[in-house]
Amino acid sequence: MTKIVLITGATSGIGKATALLLAKNGYRLILTGRRKERLEELKKEISGEICTLCFDVTKSVEVENALKSLPSEWKNIDVLINNAGKAIGIDELASGDITEWGKMIDTNIKGLLYVTRLILPGMKERKSGHIINLSSIAGKETYPGGSIYCATKHAVNAISDSMRVELLPYSIKVSTISPGAVETEFSVVRFRGDRKKADNVYRGLTPLYAKDIAECIYFIISRPENVTIADIKVLAGAQASARDFYRKEK
Ligand code: NAP
Repeated sequence: MTKIVLITGATSGIGKATALLLAKNGYRLILTGRRKERLEELKKEISGEICTLCFDVTKSVEVENALKSLPSEWKNIDVLINNAGKAIGIDELASGDITEWGKMIDTNIKGLLYVTRLILPGMKERKSGHIINLSSIAGKETYPGGSIYCATKHAVNAISDSMRVELLPYSIKVSTISPGAVETEFSVVRFRGDRKKADNVYRGLTPLYAKDIAECIYFIISRPENVTIADIKVLAGAQASARDFYRKEK
């Protein structure tokens, strides 16, 4: 039977590229995000079975209402990809903005928890399912100006590792993917809309593209029953760590 995959943050970057690749490979997709017009565009762009839900992962009531509104033929979600996430700012802790900290914590940690908590009961009942959480190289390392974002991605790893043990008796797989520098809207969001600063992140090197991560996600979810990919760490060719890049300056 064709699997149903729910992707959070499908309106841009990694989530969108994953939606396009999975649609090509015949999955039925529930695509979510806050930008309704982008969800409408995706519906037109992707041929295949698509259902869209517009909600903010940080608002637990919105998440609950949206998931409850799914028609019965879309309710048995086989794969959940917790992708919605963000970094805001590169400020040191002493000069950090509390509201921005809240947005990162609410999206990257609480949002993932709100969505997962509502989808797990069905998976447990059916004794099958797969959850893929978008972590980051920032979940394995730390860097100045990244304390809050790194903390949220370390939390994603802790949550994922705990879930993998909790869900073992239910045959539910849990995977994380930990990308390095991927050129998406991520840096534009991080630098609060400043495109020049965002572009500077990828100056003099070829970054990862969203489709590179989508291919890893497809690999993770298309493994046979006897294989669980616990984590994939994937860096750009010109990257050795969160902080080490080889730039060919022009
Ligand atoms: P992106 O292009 O900015 O996409 C982020 C997605 O998250 C968008 O679709 C956005 O949709 C959604 N989103 C943000 N806040 C949301 C909210 N409150 N409620 C619902 N959806 C929300 O960034 P990306 O690079 O694809 O990032 C995807 C994931 O990969 C994130 O978890 C990020 O931390 C992780 N990651 C990225 C990189 C990188 O270098 N790009 C590296 C490692 C890990 P709406 O705005 O429409 O809601």
